Amino acid sequence: MAVIRDVMPAFELFQPNTVADAQKILGQHGRDAWVLAGGMDSFDWLKDRIKKPKAVVDLSGIEELKGVRVISDGIEIGAMTTLTQVVNSPIIREKYSLLAQAAELVASPQIRNQGTIGGNVSQDARCWYYRAGWPCYRAGGNICYADTPTARNREHAILHADRCVAVNPSDSAPALIALDAKFVIRTPKGERIVDAEDYFIGPDIDITRMHILQPGDLLTAIRIPSAWAGTQFYFEKVRDRNVWDFALLNVASAMAVSGDRIERIRIAVNGAAARPLRLKAVEDAVRGKPLSVATGEMAGKLAVQGSVPLQFNAYKIPLMRNLVKRAIGGVEEAKWAS
Ligand SMILES: Cc1cc2nc3c(=O)[nH]c(=O)nc-3n(C[C@H](O)[C@H](O)[C@H](O)COP(=O)(O)OP(=O)(O)OC[C@H]3O[C@@H](n4cnc5c(N)ncnc54)[C@H](O)[C@@H]3O)c2cc1C
Ligand code: SF4
Repeated sequence: MAVIRDVMPAFELFQPNTVADAQKILGQHGRDAWVLAGGMDSFDWLKDRIKKPKAVVDLSGIEELKGVRVISDGIEIGAMTTLTQVVNSPIIREKYSLLAQAAELVASPQIRNQGTIGGNVSQDARCWYYRAGWPCYRAGGNICYADTPTARNREHAILHADRCVAVNPSDSAPALIALDAKFVIRTPKGERIVDAEDYFIGPDIDITRMHILQPGDLLTAIRIPSAWAGTQFYFEKVRDRNVWDFALLNVASAMAVSGDRIERIRIAVNGAAARPLRLKAVEDAVRGKPLSVATGEMAGKLAVQGSVPLQFNAYKIPLMRNLVKRAIGGVEEAKWAS
């Protein structure tokens, strides 16, 4: 008999107006609580009755979590700032256009109007089996349904898999890593600030989560330092359809160039592993090298070292090689015009 999925399971809804109140409620409910931002990921889980929290804490009434502010070194984006607001922010477009470009390629205008930057970096895996409620490793079981010879795994990981082969689906995450963003987290013990790349975790650390947040924690803001403002940016997302679709792979880079040489660079990819990957070895290898196709080719080859394809996703290896190559060697021709 078909599962009837007409209404969400009942939960207690809380709508605090301050971060302090939200934290208090989260503290009272522990693992039974669910943080609700724009709901674009949350509502799927609730409507499909796969996650059944007892308490939902809606952050939409907390004004202090919204908006883009100039701070002493760079900008701070409140976690509840919508992706549309990020895309349209004059200062982001002027100085950190890498993020505007990445956010503009998320989903559809309607989803960007509702989805928030905090939700985008905190969203869960899009693996078909997991989203359909199959009891896999990530759901607390002891099997991966995607890692079999006949499974649907063309969207899955080619790097750093550990039992779970799902990938992180966020488009904004690699741009934030390339911009050296800092994530501000309010924990029950106080504020904690982590580098963007350290916000995300793979299955080797915790197979049931994609980020470091623990029950009771809130991501309150993302800070982007000025160090990479106005440098040369490259963002490219490859997806099956050019609208309303998750990335098969994406790449984001920020480069400071002196003459024809790469002086400083940060580069990250997503869609290749369970967490967005900063390509540190590539950064080290190309620093000081000429900005050229040959450097790009060398970087692309280095980026995919160690990759292990599943049955249906071997195409991701040349795809990632070429994205990294273009992010470095092809940056002049493909630079985004803001
Ligand atoms: C059809 C469709 C297509 C999509 N395509 C893309 C795409 O192409 N690229 C892409 O990057 N994304 C895509 N998404 C994902 C979408 O952009 C994100 O799900 C959305 O940005 C999540 O943001 P939200 O504000 O709606 O968060 P919610 O759905 O409310 O929350 C997402 C998760 O993050 C947690 N969370 C949210 N905010 C906080 C916070 N401040 N502190 C602690 N935890 C928090 C929630 O508890 C939840 O687990 C798509 C979604 C849909 C439905
Ligand atoms: S890839 Fe991960 S989320 Fe998907 S079935 Fe395997 S364990 Fe579950």
